[in-house]
Amino acid sequence: VYQPQIQIRTGEIIGVEALCRWHHPRLGQVAPHEFIHIAERTGMIKPLTEWVLNTACRQAVAWKRAGFPALRMAVNISPSHFLDQDFVPMVERILGETGMMPTELELEVTEHVVQTHQQNLSIFQALKDLGVLLSIDDFGTGYSSFASLKHLTFDHLKIDKYFIDDMLVDFKSRLLVGAMIEMGHNLDHGLIAEGVETAEQYHLLRKLGCETAQGYLFSPPVSADEISNRTY
Ligand code: C2E
Ligand code: CA
Ligand code: CA
Repeated sequence: VYQPQIQIRTGEIIGVEALCRWHHPRLGQVAPHEFIHIAERTGMIKPLTEWVLNTACRQAVAWKRAGFPALRMAVNISPSHFLDQDFVPMVERILGETGMMPTELELEVTEHVVQTHQQNLSIFQALKDLGVLLSIDDFGTGYSSFASLKHLTFDHLKIDKYFIDDMLVDFKSRLLVGAMIEMGHNLDHGLIAEGVETAEQYHLLRKLGCETAQGYLFSPPVSADEISNRTY
């Protein structure tokens, strides 16, 4: 399924995030926080990520061929797989096979990989050389290292829903969101707020200078068909 990302200034959809769903014949809908974790432990995460990347890129190319304006396609990448040797070659192969424009693909990684290991730095660089966009997911939770922000090249910071949730009632959260936006901009990164559920949150984010928002206020994650119908 795909969840729209909205440009706050104009209210337009500028991208979508691909989110995995598993419909099990007996268990019904299984949530990603259950099966992604198991996939990581059982070695299934590689074929799963490959399937998600492939499906998402094919969908983006299909939308484009149908004449829809270009949308950025964001895909979540598990830290364990991101650090794997064959990850970059896999991305390159999928871009070639699907005809996806690298600059329209964004890979979301959590702060767990944002550490200044030499290996991580070279993977970030190799992906940048391919031309794909990179964003730091769940920013502000996990273990953030300011040192890694200094070394890594990426495009967007995604402010975690945890801060968006109570920024209207908790002054500290509001200050932290403001600080993240300002810091991100000073370092030349775009900001994406996740889990935006109310118009009040949207207006505050706009006032604080955040450029992109994603959340139930606009749409939950929906099928590709629903995206096509809504957008155009
Ligand atoms: P995430 O990357 O932080 O994705 C955002 C999650 O918040 C999604 O849950 C989305 O449906 C939900 N969400 C979005 N807007 C709102 C809102 O306004 N309110 C509320 N309450 N929730 C909102 P989902 O789809 O259940 O995914 C959970 C997590 O599973 C994701 O968190 C991501 O870490 C992981 N995940 C999902 N798909 C994939 C995948 O293909 N690969 C990998 N490695 N991880 C995935
Ligand atoms: Ca994400
Ligand atoms: Ca999150």
